[in-house]
Amino acid sequence: MIDASLIEKLKNELGDKRVQLDDVARDDRRHDYWVLNHLRSWRGEALDRPGVVVRPESTAEVQAIVRVAAQTGTPLVPFGLGSGVCGGIQPDQSAIVVDLGSMNRVREIDETNLIASFDAGCNGLEAEEAVAARGLTIGHWPQSIAMSSVGGWVSTRAAGQFSTAYGNIEDIVYSIEAVLPDGDLVELGKAPRAAAGPDLRHLLLGAEGTMGIVTGVSLALRRQAESRVYSAYHTPSMAAGFEAQREIIQTGWVPPVMRQYDAMEARRNFKDFAAEDQGLLLMVHEGPAARVDVEIEATDAIARKAGLVEAPPGAGQHWMKERNHVPSWVELFEARLVVDTIEVSAPWTRIEDVYRDATESLRELDAVRMASAHSSHVYRTGLNLYFTFAALHEDSADMEASYLDCWRCVMEATARHGGGIAHHHGVGRLRKPYLAHDLGENGVALLRKIKGAIDPQGLMNPGNLLPDA
Ligand SMILES: Cc1cc2nc3c(=O)[nH]c(=O)nc-3n(C[C@H](O)[C@H](O)[C@H](O)COP(=O)(O)OP(=O)(O)OC[C@H]3O[C@@H](n4cnc5c(N)ncnc54)[C@H](O)[C@@H]3O)c2cc1C
Repeated sequence: MIDASLIEKLKNELGDKRVQLDDVARDDRRHDYWVLNHLRSWRGEALDRPGVVVRPESTAEVQAIVRVAAQTGTPLVPFGLGSGVCGGIQPDQSAIVVDLGSMNRVREIDETNLIASFDAGCNGLEAEEAVAARGLTIGHWPQSIAMSSVGGWVSTRAAGQFSTAYGNIEDIVYSIEAVLPDGDLVELGKAPRAAAGPDLRHLLLGAEGTMGIVTGVSLALRRQAESRVYSAYHTPSMAAGFEAQREIIQTGWVPPVMRQYDAMEARRNFKDFAAEDQGLLLMVHEGPAARVDVEIEATDAIARKAGLVEAPPGAGQHWMKERNHVPSWVELFEARLVVDTIEVSAPWTRIEDVYRDATESLRELDAVRMASAHSSHVYRTGLNLYFTFAALHEDSADMEASYLDCWRCVMEATARHGGGIAHHHGVGRLRKPYLAHDLGENGVALLRKIKGAIDPQGLMNPGNLLPDA
């Protein structure tokens, strides 16, 4: 419970209106988009909620809130736009939720240096539209672009659909402004590149609110592409598609979008374009027209050599049109289905094993009716896989355990073959039991020490990210 004197202190800093104690404000901020908390809510389980929600409008106000929390030993949970899918937001009565939604200004667009600065709570699509009006792009297109914030992108190490050429958020971030747990302000990232000790921006990139509150973000921009062309191929096997993708990227071609669907997903998502028992590889080629033309020719030759057959190019336009569809969990729960997606990654030599083992382990579970995957982010060293599973239950009481079982299968199958257990959705409460698969026990211990040094009172988003938090 938050006591009255703390509320008074917060009101002194922010005024009455932006210190919210009403049911609606607190209920709306009790969790993010994680399926499991939606399921618990749908089943009528009593979910905890924050003691109070505060809505700062400036970095100075965030500093004031953090100082009040530090003086009173009160936990703080940053809230961007709540689209996180791993349970990174789950405050209890003792916590202050710091809702960044009112810090939503575009601070500056520098068209010469191609740098744009935003308040951390700025909506991703609004940020993109502001730079698009000047013929520029951030080049970061998560499926959730319209429902996620710039500060959330940094805090979860997000990846956009065009990442293969334009990079993930850590490649796009120029600088980060953040308030540390003692209220101090840091501005990390001053120049296009630095060799000034360890890159401290990485303490915030992926910290999921555990190291401080990101209040401002500058991103490196691009000019909008002169040309965009789509290509699509049927893939006779996952192996053939992987081989084509590896050859394309390692030769030096970088279509911003390369997506390879297994046969089940090709049939489900591209029924007018897919061929019987074949997967699908889609590419979006962008850039100066002359380069795009050469790339199309070269990637076509590589795809054919790997045994791929050209598919109707409309598949790419179809994906482009439908790509940001957001599922409604409740409709699925009503049908007693739990559906979720799990993204992992692995080097080229291990990716097929991860695909086979994870889909097979999922299908062995009694409740699982469907397990499939596609890849969507490609690197010279390997690529990601994005699994989708659907599990059906007679009794809604079984859904939570079954959901966690599905996750365990994919996490363990990925780890067994040396893959990385989290490609871009972060850790939250969902993946923290598996964090040592990625960092090793000593790595987890190091992260714990760093967290202890930065946040000795353990006030920043307690219970999140670290396995024993
Ligand atoms: C339909 C759908 C599609 C998605 N597609 C993608 C995708 O393509 N790529 C991708 O990477 N992700 C995707 N996501 C996941 C999600 O959108 C991202 O993780 C996004 O970056 C979260 O941003 P947010 O502002 O909503 O953060 P929130 O959900 O509000 O918060 C996420 C975590 O970051 C912390 N946090 C938020 N803001 C701050 C801040 N300013 N300072 C410190 N900590 C903060 C929170 O405490 C929490 O732990 C998708 C989600 C959905 C629901």
